Amino acid sequence: MKKLPLTPRGGIPRQSHHRASHSLMLMTLHLWQVAAIFFEKVIKMKQIIDLTYGMEEGMTSYYPAWHTVFEMTQLGRHGIEGRETRRIVCGTHTGTHIDAPLHLVKNGGTIDQLPLDKLMGEVTIVDFSHLKECTEITKEMLAKVKVTKRMIFKFSWTKYWCTQKFYSAVPFFSKEAAQYLVDNGMELIALDTPSPDDGRTKLPYEELGSEKDSPIHKLFLRNKVILIEYLTNLEKVKDYEGWSIAALPLKIIGADGAPTRVCIFK
Ligand SMILES: [Zn+2]
Repeated sequence: MKKLPLTPRGGIPRQSHHRASHSLMLMTLHLWQVAAIFFEKVIKMKQIIDLTYGMEEGMTSYYPAWHTVFEMTQLGRHGIEGRETRRIVCGTHTGTHIDAPLHLVKNGGTIDQLPLDKLMGEVTIVDFSHLKECTEITKEMLAKVKVTKRMIFKFSWTKYWCTQKFYSAVPFFSKEAAQYLVDNGMELIALDTPSPDDGRTKLPYEELGSEKDSPIHKLFLRNKVILIEYLTNLEKVKDYEGWSIAALPLKIIGADGAPTRVCIFK
């Protein structure tokens, strides 16, 4: 049989009621403190902006024969198989996505090998919305820009989604400008355009893969810079301080790129 705790005089302690209410008070106080810390954390991260294009049939997609369009077919059906499932077909560079080095570097790193610590953390957002179509970004134009590990360049390019200009009229980086970013420690670059290269370059088939082909992509990927393309929603960013990024590509083993959900938050 369990013995009740005894007071020096024996019997049930007279103070027990008082002690119980005291420890209840302490426990309530403790719970409030825990709740306050939790809410403070949640409230502190008060803004999340999704920078990802939705994937659907008919979406803008890169047009050469070596890529493909997004397709989705329903397989399982409620009322028949009792569940819905779908088959999706897409290229590794469909919608908002990351280019791994392998995309343009023979035997380069694959999407599943990208280090997660590079893909998440503080990010600098540069507003280049004022640049005209087909502007070459020079090293001089970056002089006032704070170069950090992770950088987003906003060109307000979503307005050209579903038009040919989306590909052909992009502002693009000069070799010197791209090299300057690499030399100053940039490890991740994210764009709301489809490419950091001049979109007007048209090469004959035999020159694909030559040094004239996508030189800025190559400069970044050879230096293991993570390249994120096709961001959207950057017009929702009104102030440019204090943002972090999370960009997590599908973990496709051995792939040269993958669709990626990209968010910024603070
Ligand atoms: Zn790509």
